[in-house]
Amino acid sequence: MSQTAAPTNRPALPLEIARRRTFAIISHPDAGKTTLTEKFLLFGGAIQMAGQVRAKGEARRTRSDFMQMEKDRGISVSASAMSFDFKGAGNTFRFNLVDTPGHSDFSEDTYRTLTAVDAAVMVIDGAKGVESQTQKLFEVCRLRDLPILTFCNKMDRESRDTFEIIDEIQENLAIDVTPASWPIGVGRDFLGCYDLLHDRLELMDRADRNRVAETVRIAGLDDPKMEQHVPPALLEKLREEVEMARELLPPLDPARVLEGTMTPIWFGSAINSFGVKELMEGIGAYAPEPQPQSAEPRQIAPEEETVAGFVFKVQANMDPKHRDRVAFVRLASGHFERGMKLTHVRAKKQLAVTNPVLFLAADRELAEEAWAGDIIGIPNHGQLRIGDTLTEGEAIRVTGIPSFAPELLQTARAGDPMKAKHLEKALMQFAEEGAAKVFKPAIGSGFVVGVVGQLQFEVLASRIELEYGLPVRLEPSQFKSARWVAGPKDKVEAFAAANKQHIAHDNDGDLVYLTRLQWDIDRIERDHPEIRLTATKEMM
Ligand code: GDP
Repeated sequence: MSQTAAPTNRPALPLEIARRRTFAIISHPDAGKTTLTEKFLLFGGAIQMAGQVRAKGEARRTRSDFMQMEKDRGISVSASAMSFDFKGAGNTFRFNLVDTPGHSDFSEDTYRTLTAVDAAVMVIDGAKGVESQTQKLFEVCRLRDLPILTFCNKMDRESRDTFEIIDEIQENLAIDVTPASWPIGVGRDFLGCYDLLHDRLELMDRADRNRVAETVRIAGLDDPKMEQHVPPALLEKLREEVEMARELLPPLDPARVLEGTMTPIWFGSAINSFGVKELMEGIGAYAPEPQPQSAEPRQIAPEEETVAGFVFKVQANMDPKHRDRVAFVRLASGHFERGMKLTHVRAKKQLAVTNPVLFLAADRELAEEAWAGDIIGIPNHGQLRIGDTLTEGEAIRVTGIPSFAPELLQTARAGDPMKAKHLEKALMQFAEEGAAKVFKPAIGSGFVVGVVGQLQFEVLASRIELEYGLPVRLEPSQFKSARWVAGPKDKVEAFAAANKQHIAHDNDGDLVYLTRLQWDIDRIERDHPEIRLTATKEMM
């Protein structure tokens, strides 16, 4: 197993693009995503000391955790992006880390976030292995064949047997696992790792959590120098295990990592800064450069000279002092410069991007320039929606960014009837942000709000109160699910007229059928073969 550069069968990218790695971290809550993010920023030089990210203000929270809810529940509701440089062995990489919400109730948001990255880092807790949320998020990555690098965290605590952890990942996730490092000792006796890719010893510093591990250069496991650092019993076990691992587990194949069928695993302890640098080196070496983006009528290649990008997330009221909305745009191609005029393809309008933001760890910053692979934030007043494509004029539309039918519906009413209009505005904003689906029934007043998970209702209600000062009542709805209606125009119109009490429009004005029973959907599909009721809609 030796380190080789990730192969690519595409033409060489401009260096600025080739050094970019855009990825997300997926994990079960508590596995250590926040801690790892913080250490990434630390080693990327984006922050000066660990704790800075969390200790902002009076609250211990990361920059991406901006809501009280998140703090209270220890979950990350909103996703944001962070950019920083990392000086690796062979290159200075630009890492774009896109934060994903960890809670299962936000799977749609997570799904869309993962459309904006080229790889994912999966963090698991060494004592717990593959947990439910890891599994779900992994499956979303698999839908997109995303390359996955694995970090097995908390090795400073009692953890499971190394082979057992690897087996569990292989079995539960059906992906081949290849060890990039091998832990020496467990819990209190955990010394560090043997780096299988570089044949060297990495020793953890328990005294200083922010210090990078000491690296001992050695000539393989039989080097007598090993004995100076590793007690005999542990050394014997290490030699045995590594021999077994090399025999039983597949060697690292960078091409298979890129295909998403093999994941290299690093062992470490994020809180002790251990194994993090090796993982970052691994991201540089084995995670892909910015990848081509699927679009209609043609694919977009990152090396194209003209700029193209798409909105994968919209966040309203990031800063309560300025009622702005930020559209998160993943650049799919080209070299963006501040002040550029881009074509907003859906609206067929020009958009002068004068104050784009780049999300650096400590703060937002004006983005003077950005390259394919980067995430920029474009403040706007609601013109930009999820799924929108921006180009330098060509009418291309990025594809593959879905909207899912909500699984839970409630009726929303203003706590103060005089404020019904205000509520409508607030709901529309959240709908455009992707925080909920909002349906306006054809008959009657009020709105039907749809989400994927119960917690989203609570987030929504608290944000409406917090950000708009509107009390809102969310009550059980008579409807249980929603489907988009598609088919020939005249048939759809006739169908809508005949089923008025079930018909609503979503915030894009698209027709939706609200049902009480799954049986209803089956019946319509039988009785109206020309009408299609769909549970997903492509954002455009
Ligand atoms: P997240 O929910 O995945 O973002 O997890 P956090 O980063 O907030 O970590 C959850 C808890 O595990 C916190 O109390 C961390 O201090 C702790 N933790 C994180 N990494 C390590 C580690 O390497 N070793 C130990 N012992 N604890 C850790």
